[in-house]
Amino acid sequence: MIQKYDIVVVGAGNAGMVAALECAKAGKKTLLIEQHNLPGGCATSFVRGRFEFEPALHELVDVGNTNTWGEIGDLMRSYHVDVDWRQVPECFRAVGTFSDGSPLDATMPVGTDDFIDAMEEAVPGCRESVTKCFDLMAEVANGTRMLGKLKPQELMQQFPNFAAVAAAPTEDVWNALGVPQNAQDLMGAYWGYLGVSLDKLAFSHYSNMLYHLIKKRSYIPAHTSHEISCAMIERFREMGGEVWFNCRAEEFLFNGDRLCGVKTTAGVIPCDYVLANINPDIIYGKMMPKELVPEREKKLSAARDRKYSARCFTVYFGLNKSAEELGIKEYCIDVNNTSDSRTEYAKVFEPFEDKTKSVVFLCGNLASSEASPKGTAVGFFTTMHGPEEWSNVTPEEYMKLKNRYAKYYIEKTKELCGIDIGPYIEEVCVATPWTFARYIGTPEGAVYGYETRDWDAMSARMAMVDTDYPIKGLCPIGAAGPRGDGYSSAYVTGRMIAKLALKRLAEEGGAQ
Ligand SMILES: Cc1cc2nc3c(=O)[nH]c(=O)nc-3n(C[C@H](O)[C@H](O)[C@H](O)COP(=O)(O)OP(=O)(O)OC[C@H]3O[C@@H](n4cnc5c(N)ncnc54)[C@H](O)[C@@H]3O)c2cc1C
Repeated sequence: MIQKYDIVVVGAGNAGMVAALECAKAGKKTLLIEQHNLPGGCATSFVRGRFEFEPALHELVDVGNTNTWGEIGDLMRSYHVDVDWRQVPECFRAVGTFSDGSPLDATMPVGTDDFIDAMEEAVPGCRESVTKCFDLMAEVANGTRMLGKLKPQELMQQFPNFAAVAAAPTEDVWNALGVPQNAQDLMGAYWGYLGVSLDKLAFSHYSNMLYHLIKKRSYIPAHTSHEISCAMIERFREMGGEVWFNCRAEEFLFNGDRLCGVKTTAGVIPCDYVLANINPDIIYGKMMPKELVPEREKKLSAARDRKYSARCFTVYFGLNKSAEELGIKEYCIDVNNTSDSRTEYAKVFEPFEDKTKSVVFLCGNLASSEASPKGTAVGFFTTMHGPEEWSNVTPEEYMKLKNRYAKYYIEKTKELCGIDIGPYIEEVCVATPWTFARYIGTPEGAVYGYETRDWDAMSARMAMVDTDYPIKGLCPIGAAGPRGDGYSSAYVTGRMIAKLALKRLAEEGGAQ
């Protein structure tokens, strides 16, 4: 018979690992179960030949450094999680065309003043509006950090502009500030990272990402995300937590309306509380009694407007020449066809024949000298694809389609950036939305949860935290949570919902 735990965390993704650390820190008898043989979810690595590949992380924002730690740096330090961070050298390089048809090729530096100077150089006359935008982004960043800590009234008094713009579409805020279209094109080049076009994406999300990227710079671990995940698991164990790998949760068990355990491939685990790093649609649709699914959740999943956010198509490559030999000078290059995110987002769901999907090219060696063996280079292309075109292909077509896309992105990078990696590929590996669906278990391979658009932005989700988690003893955590997608958001959500669960456990007691 399996012993009882105070808290079982299901899934060792980013949110799950932080939730487990928070529960162990609070002195709870905590078990973390993971269906795979290693932790991390998206935050992992895999090996082909002499290369270890980073599967997801381009950059982690709001880590900070010994001068000023950011929210994520503070979070890691609060659990004594030690990671060997490497600073990403520049903000990004954007290549393509501006909305007015003129060519775009700009490498944007880190640091607010340098970034604004580079904006003025690329789009003369934009300085004033972009500077205003930075003032607003600073207020949004400060307001975000106080979300959930201040009452709504206090938040509105202390950060009035944050309250006004947090849920507004990014494009609307930039228009209101008078930011010229070409400047919006350049500042908005990273919209794909948040998985929804700028006419829908809530300003608070884009603003936070861009502000931290520029102000505090971004970081990657020296040895892939696997390093972060291993460091977290090691600390969790040191703090008394238990981890079971190769253990899959199949069903959440209830005594009346209160959770009392989890049915897993290792048997039934009795517990007082479960924090599930699983997409809510799977939890509510497949893993618990229908009659206990909260009404609000039923309405949200029925709402046609709530859609899954980014689904990725990724080509990982290991090259037998160094980045320097291949003339790769930037860590991350955003290769756009057009700068109109609305058009580009629509194309995500169109078939390959369209041949115009934008792509991000990344070379890890530019940020970490340990990214691959000496004289080689490693990196990946990432782009968004809808699930449709991958749903109806035969196994033979699946392989062919993967290869056609991979070749197309290699050609496009050669044509637009002058970087020719084709002849030097020693290892290559392609992941489609179904690869992610199979590996992390999210519906349609959605790695970003739901679109963080205006009406469903973090401010709205945060305001609903108490009502959104009405099930006694069970809370979903992860990229579909209040803070939205990405590593930082999943970490913060994991901690926040773990704190909520700990508070409820103290107030209500556990399972009978
Ligand atoms: C190609 C790509 C590029 C990205 N780039 C960036 C980036 O540059 N910066 C950034 O911040 N974010 C990036 N992201 C997004 C980021 O990786 C995700 O949003 C985030 O990691 C999601 O974390 P999560 O907590 O929701 O967990 P997930 O990664 O979804 O992990 C969930 C875990 O739960 C486990 N699990 C699921 N069901 C069960 C079950 N029934 N029983 C046991 N275990 C289970 C899974 O195996 C998995 O380990 C990228 C993602 C991808 C794929």
